[in-house]
Amino acid sequence: AKAAGGGRHRGYSDDLDARAGEQAKLGAEIRAALDLGQFRVVYQPIVSLPDGRIVSVEALVRWEHPERGLISPAEFIPVAEQNGLIVELGAWILRTACSQAVVWRNEFGEAGPQRMSVNVSARQLAEPGFTALVAEVLAWTGLAAHQLIVEVTETAVFGGGLAVQAVKDLHELGVKIALDDFGTGHSSLGLLQTVPVDILKVDKSFVDTITMAGRHAVIATALIQVSSGLGLMAVAEGVETAEQAAELYRLGYRLAQGYHFGRPVAEPDFLGTRVAVG
Ligand code: C2E
Ligand code: CA
Ligand code: CA
Ligand code: CA
Repeated sequence: AKAAGGGRHRGYSDDLDARAGEQAKLGAEIRAALDLGQFRVVYQPIVSLPDGRIVSVEALVRWEHPERGLISPAEFIPVAEQNGLIVELGAWILRTACSQAVVWRNEFGEAGPQRMSVNVSARQLAEPGFTALVAEVLAWTGLAAHQLIVEVTETAVFGGGLAVQAVKDLHELGVKIALDDFGTGHSSLGLLQTVPVDILKVDKSFVDTITMAGRHAVIATALIQVSSGLGLMAVAEGVETAEQAAELYRLGYRLAQGYHFGRPVAEPDFLGTRVAVG
């Protein structure tokens, strides 16, 4: 919250109060939005390189606010995490995404996405009974455990305890585990020894600079080496150009995601699914 112009100087704590007020308001609105059905899930393709075949999709939540229009998850997910509503919202997202995956599986079979990737926040992971919820949703929708990928961030599991146990239990169930925004957290490499991980999602920040001259591809190169060394799959995130896709392929990346291949949409165009890569 910024102080309105005109003399009165607002202190830091006033700003904090204003911010807390806004967050409380947003929190109450999230509660109402859940009841009113204002949330949607959109899906972004994850493709194989170099053929551009859609191998999986990532579910991303959207809030269609009647007055304010589309609100970014970057704005409301942190608030929902804070007030705990992410538990209910997250369960709804999981159910919605898994049912959609089964619809597409039945409709497109091999030609459709083979896996559904769902983001799970720290708060959800630490909630007792989260694994039971996942098992229940899988049974209810008929999606096989290996067809579900749970995306967790390094920070979510960094705290250890319940979150780490949840990841272990999910993995035991056969669910695939992806480490999201890999390389941007605190304990990236050490974490790979504590938590069972199947997929590393290499953060967009390491992809952005990949085609620039100089040493910019150093991290993307190191991360693909770590990934193959440990027998994991790596997904390059935020690929926006054909040049980046080509360079990633050259470095050894075989999975990628980004606007270049497709934006998150309600119904990705799965038939004739090849996306021009180079
Ligand atoms: P994320 O999990 O890292 O998701 C990737 C974000 O990057 C998405 O933003 C996606 O739309 C965007 N993106 C994909 N390709 C490109 C690209 O080529 N260029 C650029 N500039 N951006 C790209 P989105 O959907 O706004 O989500 C933001 C974050 O909000 C997500 O980051 C995730 O942390 C969180 N989020 C989104 N949906 C959910 C959800 O269902 N549950 C939870 N817990 N968090 C979610
Ligand atoms: Ca993600
Ligand atoms: Ca990410
Ligand atoms: Ca992110």
